[in-house]
Amino acid sequence: HHEPAPPFGPAPRRATRQVRIGNVAVGGDAPVVVQSMTNTDTADIASTVKQVAELWRAGSELVRVTVNNPESAAAVPRIVEKLAMMGIEVPIIGDFHYNGHQLLANEPACAEALAKYRINPGNVGFGKKRDTQFAQLIEFAIQYGKPVRIGANWGSLDQALATRLMDENHLRADPWDASRVLREALIRSALDSAARAVELGLPAERIVLSCKVSGVQELIAVYRDLAQRSDFALHLGLTEAGIGSKGIVASSAALSVLLQEGIGDTIRISLTPEPGAPRTQEVVVAQELLQTMGLRAFTPMVTACPGCGRTTSEFFQELAKVVQEHVRAKMPEWKISHPGAENLTLAVMGCVVNGPGESRHADIGISLPGTGEAPAAPVFIDGEKSVTLRGENIAREFVALIDGYVER
Ligand code: SF4
Repeated sequence: HHEPAPPFGPAPRRATRQVRIGNVAVGGDAPVVVQSMTNTDTADIASTVKQVAELWRAGSELVRVTVNNPESAAAVPRIVEKLAMMGIEVPIIGDFHYNGHQLLANEPACAEALAKYRINPGNVGFGKKRDTQFAQLIEFAIQYGKPVRIGANWGSLDQALATRLMDENHLRADPWDASRVLREALIRSALDSAARAVELGLPAERIVLSCKVSGVQELIAVYRDLAQRSDFALHLGLTEAGIGSKGIVASSAALSVLLQEGIGDTIRISLTPEPGAPRTQEVVVAQELLQTMGLRAFTPMVTACPGCGRTTSEFFQELAKVVQEHVRAKMPEWKISHPGAENLTLAVMGCVVNGPGESRHADIGISLPGTGEAPAAPVFIDGEKSVTLRGENIAREFVALIDGYVER
């Protein structure tokens, strides 16, 4: 009698309707797509082009820009044109709040140049104007043949809807707690708006949904529910995740649980950049999250031990960094010349305790000498001991061995 093996790896991706955003497919059987957002003034064409290009080079497959005033709407077509001249065909998404209907009406070239419109159903206007302005936005999407993301957000929840649900909740025999009512308001805001868009004539294959909140457990609860209640492609992200390691950890914790359950068709990691840190960090984190979970491969991953009292110097940490940075820098070139290089596994280990073992598991690994060990660093290739490196040039020689491995 054998027990069935416990499930290993992520659940099959949930079946969603596939949406085409420019040349990128989101949902259905498409891989989980990485996206990011600029923080430049969109009206500043040169800075925005530069940052979009950086995000794209780092691996962002879609880039969103805010379109918040007539100047930025006028800049969008020129940004898209300049990027195309640089050979960068990344779809640009316009983020609209409050005045999107006016901006799209006044700037047809912007409506045309964008690959998708992001509409926040909590921010399309107030009172009676809300429905007409929402309809106007959807009509532009229909007229220009564009997909939309209906992106609800905890911080800009449709207050009328929230109040109505709160009131209804008071009449229930088993009142839900307030946080559940608010989650329901967020989900309903997205689902009702999507249903309205379909009613207005926008095909369901042109709709992506998101419901962003800033708490990890809330996000998991909201998306589980959303995934059950619709088959729209889902954009996943923890909003206002925070700065530095907190933002990275919170986003990874929330998104990994959902991705493991097959929920999520595109992700954005919203990090508050630390002063001086590059905007591209959010793209690197998104790629690493997907790759460490085995959902996609972007760049060779380096296994490195944490180091301990047995490591003789900081050289070991430096080497791990040099190796990861080297393969990341080479990857755009390898993607074309040596497709598949992104699946390589590398190991940089600090001593003989776990060094040779871990290095053997990698495609190519090195075990540096620890305290009291002979000053020699054996290199393992495809599980076999290959050369032994010594002296000053270990880093350079190991990097050359990696390049040689990829070439072969
Ligand atoms: Fe320490 Fe060696 Fe383990 Fe690295 S492999 S953590 S140096 S014992």
